Amino acid sequence: MLESIQEELSNIMVPAGLDLEWRALDTTKGKEVSVELAVIHFKGTCDAEDLMPMDGYPGPLGWTHISDGEILPFSDINCDGIRLFVQRDLLRVPEPNRADVFGRAVARVLAHELYHIFARTTKHGAWGIGKPAYSVRELLSNKFEFEKKECDVLRAHQARLALISGAGQ
Ligand SMILES: [Zn+2]
Repeated sequence: MLESIQEELSNIMVPAGLDLEWRALDTTKGKEVSVELAVIHFKGTCDAEDLMPMDGYPGPLGWTHISDGEILPFSDINCDGIRLFVQRDLLRVPEPNRADVFGRAVARVLAHELYHIFARTTKHGAWGIGKPAYSVRELLSNKFEFEKKECDVLRAHQARLALISGAGQ
């Protein structure tokens, strides 16, 4: 699962000039950190197993912490919410592809939160991954990217390193 998330995330970030590195939080020592960080918590069940053909209100799919109006480099990705949001449609995807398609959806939510962190903005774009909300179809589509405007903003801020911590926390 992590592999499909990482792969889609780098597809999304390459046009924005971001070259992300991933570290598990518990293997990272402070001294190797010389560039900007984002610490990501994957909350809930981050896989495409045991899906149910029903809808539910997922709540926010991801969020980034803010303190006194300032963006902090900590995001939560609501894996349970993403599952609930896409599961009915994801069940129509052939079983062998489901994990990859789900991983791609998670990566898109993650890319959105990384945009807030690395561009240091709470603002949203009108189209693409910078939009404030997505449809199920956008999350599951073959291609869903940042618009040029958001790419340019990310390119202007040079950020490099994403730290991730394990799922289920
Ligand atoms: Zn947002």
